[in-house]
Amino acid sequence: MKLLLVGEYRDAGLAAEVAGLFGFARLLDAEVSMVLVGREADLPAFEGRLWLADVDTYGEYAPDRHKSLVLEAARREAPDAVVLLHSSYGWDLAPRVAAALNAALVSGVTGLDDGGYVVECCNGKMRRTVRPLTEPVVLTLQPGAFGQDALNGSPEIRYLEADGETSIECLGFSRPETGIDLSHAVAIVSAGRGIGSKEHLGLVRALADALGAEVGASRPVVDAGWLERARQVGMSGQNVSPGLYVACGISGSIQHLAGMKGSGFVLAINTDSQAPIGNVADVLVVADLVDFLPLLTAQLASRC
Ligand SMILES: Cc1cc2nc3c(=O)[nH]c(=O)nc-3n(C[C@H](O)[C@H](O)[C@H](O)COP(=O)(O)OP(=O)(O)OC[C@H]3O[C@@H](n4cnc5c(N)ncnc54)[C@H](O)[C@@H]3O)c2cc1C
Repeated sequence: MKLLLVGEYRDAGLAAEVAGLFGFARLLDAEVSMVLVGREADLPAFEGRLWLADVDTYGEYAPDRHKSLVLEAARREAPDAVVLLHSSYGWDLAPRVAAALNAALVSGVTGLDDGGYVVECCNGKMRRTVRPLTEPVVLTLQPGAFGQDALNGSPEIRYLEADGETSIECLGFSRPETGIDLSHAVAIVSAGRGIGSKEHLGLVRALADALGAEVGASRPVVDAGWLERARQVGMSGQNVSPGLYVACGISGSIQHLAGMKGSGFVLAINTDSQAPIGNVADVLVVADLVDFLPLLTAQLASRC
């Protein structure tokens, strides 16, 4: 199988999640090439052809022009699949590429099953497996779903140019100024839907204080308005990599894991011994957090 991976350059650097594209390729034992609008000084390490276009010429985000570059690389590589990240870049670019190639698009792939691609639906409550009926196919992969393979090797660089008008001009990127930055926190205690009510946030805050940690959250807690959006950890929230991550009443959806998989030690507290967070936790305490959190906080306080 031949894959054309579409790399992503974000905020003047290669996006870390790009490694997951190679994890997917390894799973399929596929031959790989990549197209990247980036810089020669900042390339992924891998064995294969790299079609490189200069980010200063084509911009970090210019979907029409990037589409022309991907199509040009696809014309030369004739891949079985064009594979992007399911990121704001990928989900904008992938349909444009699929329409131009008259190819099926499967977006948000989280796994492989029986020759089909697994995607989550109904807000992650169900999974469906689909088999595209075209060749090539265009895929977007959920960041974190296929691991973050350590990369090695040096690609054979081919320079790429493409004509093309653009109907969109990107004026720049900005971050909301919230004063909350979890990305550099050394410890985070996160609250999930399992806390049950806003009142129980006090238990999470008390543990965070005892540990000198920041408070984080899963999306339902933010959607309920119990905590600020800047505290959301996950695919559509912040990417965090603290030394300690405590997940309180969090099931461990792929979207949440995508944001905290870089954590050092993971402690999870959950009433369900089969919750998926157990697959990534170093310790899973099967308990009601309303009982357990005050005990843990008291133990920590007694040791200080
Ligand atoms: C496009 C998209 C982007 C998304 N982005 C994000 C994102 O960035 N971040 C994110 O978090 N989610 C995101 N989601 C939502 C995600 O799919 C899940 O719905 C969400 O992560 C679930 O949050 P949760 O684990 O808190 O809740 P649930 O999945 O409902 O899990 C609650 C857990 O609490 C446990 N529990 C219940 N009561 C107790 C108790 N008393 N004590 C201990 N444990 C208890 C339960 O056993 C369960 O495991 C996204 C979804 C989509 C479709």
